Formats: sequence, C-alpha cells, structure tokens
Amino acid sequence: MASLVKSVDQLVSKATCLFKEIFDGEAPKIAACAPGRVNLIGEHTDYNLGYVLPMALPLVTVVVGSVASGREATVVTVSENADEPRRVDLSLPKEGFPPSELASEGCPLAPGLPHWANYVRGVIHHFRAHPLPGFRAVVVSSVPLGAGLSSSASLEVAFYTFLQQLRPDDGNKISKAIACQQAEHTHAGVPCGIMDQLVSVLGIESHALLIDCRSLESTLVPLTDPGLVFLISNSNVKHSLASSKYALRRAECEKAAMVIGKPSLRDATMKDLEGSRDQLDDVTYRRACHVIGEIQRTVKAADSLKRGDYQQFGKAMVESHNSLRDLYEVSCKELDDLVSAAMEVEGVLGSRMTGGGFGGCTITLVKARAIERTIEHIQRRYSGTPTFYVATPSVGAQSLKLP
Ligand code: ADP
Ligand code: MG
Repeated sequence: MASLVKSVDQLVSKATCLFKEIFDGEAPKIAACAPGRVNLIGEHTDYNLGYVLPMALPLVTVVVGSVASGREATVVTVSENADEPRRVDLSLPKEGFPPSELASEGCPLAPGLPHWANYVRGVIHHFRAHPLPGFRAVVVSSVPLGAGLSSSASLEVAFYTFLQQLRPDDGNKISKAIACQQAEHTHAGVPCGIMDQLVSVLGIESHALLIDCRSLESTLVPLTDPGLVFLISNSNVKHSLASSKYALRRAECEKAAMVIGKPSLRDATMKDLEGSRDQLDDVTYRRACHVIGEIQRTVKAADSLKRGDYQQFGKAMVESHNSLRDLYEVSCKELDDLVSAAMEVEGVLGSRMTGGGFGGCTITLVKARAIERTIEHIQRRYSGTPTFYVATPSVGAQSLKLP
C-alpha cells in the first residue's frame, strides 16, 4: 500500500548512508530523483506515434553522489527487490565526446556487462553536455524492477538529472526524455517508445498527462477527486516472452502501416484499415485494429476523465484490456485473472493490464470507499501473491537538496 512506499526522504537517507559506507565516510554533495509511472490507458500506442495517458508515481529512483578527481565514474545501485549493492567502475572519455556513432567495442561506454549498468552507460553516452567530471554515485530505488512500472526510465531520468548537476545542459526537457529513450535503445537493447521517459521527466502532482507521441506535446488531465483511486495490482509474474513479443509487435505494426500506405498507424483510420483488409493477414489486421482503436479510445477516455465521467472512463479501461487480450495478444492468465477479480467488486469502475504485458501490473479505477474491499477480494481470488500500490499522481524528475 502507498503508506508502505518509502518516501523520497527515506530513500535519500538510505543512499546517503550507503554512500558514506562505500566511500570512506565522505558525504554526498548532490542528489536527484525521478519517478516510475503507470499508464492509465493507451497501451502499445506510443511507438505507433499515438496517444498515451500515464501518470508519474510516488515510486522513485534516487541518485546521490559527488564529483571525484580524475576521469573515473563509480556507480553503485541498490533496489527494493535486489538488495545486494552492485558496483560498476566506468572510464569517462576525454575529448571530442560523444562520438557520432555508437560507442564501439573497447570504448569505455560501449554496452557490456553487468547488464543493469548499460542504462547508466547509455545515459552518460547520450548526455547532452560533455565532458563530464569524474564522479561517484549511489542509486537507490523503490520502483519494483521489471514490473511494468518503468524502473528503467526512472533510473535513466534520475541519472540524467544527477548528471545535469555535474554539468548543466540546456535544460530542454523533451530532449532529455529523448536522450534517455536513446540510452535504452542503444545500450539496454530495448526498442521502447517515448512514454516512460517523457512522463518521468514531465510528471505533475495530481495530474495524468495525455501525451501525443508524435508531436510530444502533453495536456494535463487533473485527477483530484478524493472519491476515486487508481489501484495498481502487481501480479509479481513476468513471462520470458515479454521482450521478444514486444519487438515482434513493433514489426507487425510497421508492416500494417506499410500495407495501409501510411507512415505510422497513428495516421490510419478504421476506414483505411478496412480498405486494406484483403492485403493484410488476419494477425496483422488484428494488431492494427487494436492500435487504431486504442488511440481513439485514449483520446475519448481522457475527455471522459476531464468531464468527471468516471463510469465512461472505466468502461474504456475494460475495452482496452479486452483489445490487448484478444486483438494484440499481450495479456496473460494472471493479468486476466486480476482484472476479472477486480471487476467483481462493487465500487470498481474499470480495470486493465498496464505496461507491455505478459505479466507486470493491472490498474483499477475504484471508489475510495471500496479500496480495502477490492484489495481483499483480489487477494482471495488471485492464485499468486499480488502487491498493491495506490497510484497517487506525483511530480516528475527533480534535483534534491541534501540536508
Ligand atoms: P520496468 O522498466 O518495467 O521496470 P524493464 O525490463 O524495462 O522493466 O527494466 C528493468 C531493468 O532495468 C532491470 O532488470 C535492471 O537492469 C534495470 N534497472 C532499473 N532500475 C534499476 C536499479 N535501481 N538498479 C539496477 N538496475 C536497474
Ligand atoms: Mg522499462
């Protein structure tokens, strides 16, 4: 539950203690944090340049550190579900960085092992104000890893925000999100869309963001009704299919757009899709049908939220889930079971899988008075052990003052 989520202050204290322990009593001088996120609706639409409706979470990654002499960077991470500190030493390149091409083998910031450090290498590589001084950093996170709440973007964005204090860039927030997305593409090998990084940078308290992933413009959607809560249920499963299917879905969408004759599925209507139906195999047709329908649904759903029509928003959530399950085929039994269990509770208005799929989390819109009942019911009905978080819309990345 939200009350059990560590606050930013607690994470900063933990990171500071660890930093002193590892670096001979030295106190860190600078700190930054960035949140994970949950997507309310608009799934698998970001890389099709459509709309998404995420909010930043009170789950965050914190980075504390200080400048060090020389050109070495030492980074240590600890996270909630990987409690042993993990350390990596990196050499920062001197002149003429970053190179125009991806750092090649032998280059200090080329992707390599350990894998988690690739997120850090990638962010340093794509940072927009080189050269950086040497530094030491400790990373602590309350975002569960690999649960679909974007621990990866929160790590990238928190780390970028930390680097901005070592050497300020031009402060452009959109460019910062793109640099972090690039880090994930080139170094972690994950061809993600822009949603996670953008909302981790731009998140605002008490608001979701309707993001147009083509123009990268975002509109604030207030979420201030005390009578309603978005509840996250973590299935605590992740099927190994997740990353290969993600890449496959991207390829299927590109194929669909090409056959329909549009630059992306964002530009296609249901009428365009029906007009090309004969040239599309059944699978590709269904993938495109999900994406085109989901983009339209997301815009309408954001409107419902703005109007306070929560019944309608809840209905759109369920339609989204069914479309992801039946047309896009990225759900799994655990997510379907969590959604079905939630929908049985009086006071629940809607529920759906959120994130890439094949495990991870569901998001449920529920009346505040029914929250305890909903959690109990899901716990009773779900065969595994779920974890719950109340999704309080929170602030995006920021630098922090150390005490
Ligand atoms: P999600 O972003 O949904 O949590 P991903 O698979 O995209 O799932 O990213 C999870 C990966 O990101 C982890 O396996 C790890 O490599 C890396 N990661 C994220 N946060 C941390 C952290 N605090 N410390 C070390 N690695 C991290
Ligand atoms: Mg991720």
